[in-house]
Amino acid sequence: MIYKNYPMVSRVVFGRGCFNQLGDILQPKRLNVKAPFIFLVDAVFKGNSWLTSRIPLAYDDQVFYISADEEPKTSQVDELVENIILSYKDRPSGIIGIGGGTILDLAKAVSIMITNEGQTKNYQGWDLVKNPAIYHVGVPTISGTGSEVSRTTVLTGPDKKLGINSDYTPFDQVVLDPELTKGVPKDQWFYTGMDCYIHCIESLNGTYLNAFSKSYGEKAFELCKSIFMEGDLSKEEAQDELMMASWHGGMSIAYSQVGVAHAMSYGLSYLLGTKHGIGNCIVFDHLDEFYPEGVQLFRKMKEKHDISLPQGICKHLSDEEFDIMIDVALGLEPLWENALGKNWKNIITRSKLKALYQQM
Ligand code: NAD
Ligand code: ZN
Repeated sequence: MIYKNYPMVSRVVFGRGCFNQLGDILQPKRLNVKAPFIFLVDAVFKGNSWLTSRIPLAYDDQVFYISADEEPKTSQVDELVENIILSYKDRPSGIIGIGGGTILDLAKAVSIMITNEGQTKNYQGWDLVKNPAIYHVGVPTISGTGSEVSRTTVLTGPDKKLGINSDYTPFDQVVLDPELTKGVPKDQWFYTGMDCYIHCIESLNGTYLNAFSKSYGEKAFELCKSIFMEGDLSKEEAQDELMMASWHGGMSIAYSQVGVAHAMSYGLSYLLGTKHGIGNCIVFDHLDEFYPEGVQLFRKMKEKHDISLPQGICKHLSDEEFDIMIDVALGLEPLWENALGKNWKNIITRSKLKALYQQM
């Protein structure tokens, strides 16, 4: 048995308003005045001076506003890296991602591709990155994905949706300021929050579970229940706790794996462009057979917050399209092995997957 020697985020600052410390944090990391910090910022904040006026710009530092309407693509990373390399003689001092999972993943990928040759799609997989990334910082503005702690950056490439999983992927610094999540719309709060809840259910009910993952997974699960079911937290407390639930959920799957909902949600995302949070919710709602208690509680939370999920999104798909989704889902072997054990191929068949997708 070889145990994973897992890299973690080197530094983290937590607290309401701690975003104000970003300038002090970055200052000693500036290589020289010609080596800028590049800020990748969710375009939802463009014109929002409450946030943008506090981005600590100096010298040649630059802000790129990036839409999070679509999940990150390998070609988008290539374009950004080319743009940055052509704009400056010196290698940047660092990349700072300010946004949700989409922007955080982009920031991680760009920081890797600045020091690694060729196209981003060639690095989708496990441990293909050769050179350390440049300094990179993650500032989440919505909680749930766990991207702020993870060793991966999930990207859609020309022929697959797969992360760059590497020891160089995790952030060097994370800034956890729960106040930054105050403007998240309710539906999106629920979808991304449920990503965290589903990480817990899949980790805690998986065959890869161990004491390390369990300790983080149980804490995240408890926090999710208190945030989404109990309703006795103030708004601020709920923001603080969801940020920590996301962190713990990410730590839990780092040392185990996700499961059926994530495998099937990747299929939806690849074929239909369904985003991660809502896609997980759509799938999870049909997984009573695999996670009976988790799904029951999910439905209660959905009802409590008056969330209605899209129905019939697979209704008009052709057999070929179902096959594409099934191929993507079944390709994620570790997820199935975690969910169902070593004999998973005898349990989950193509026809069973198709029948499940047909209900969505
Ligand atoms: P997101 O980044 O896609 O953002 C969702 C929506 O919320 C966007 O419209 C965005 O503009 C908006 N938003 C974000 N912060 C806001 C704020 N403070 N106020 C108002 N609106 C705000 O959402 P997400 O669910 O955090 O991320 C999904 C992405 O994360 C997917 O691409 C998925 O693949 C990735 N992911 C990565 C990992 C990982 O470990 N790397 C894990 C899970 C998911
Ligand atoms: Zn997820």
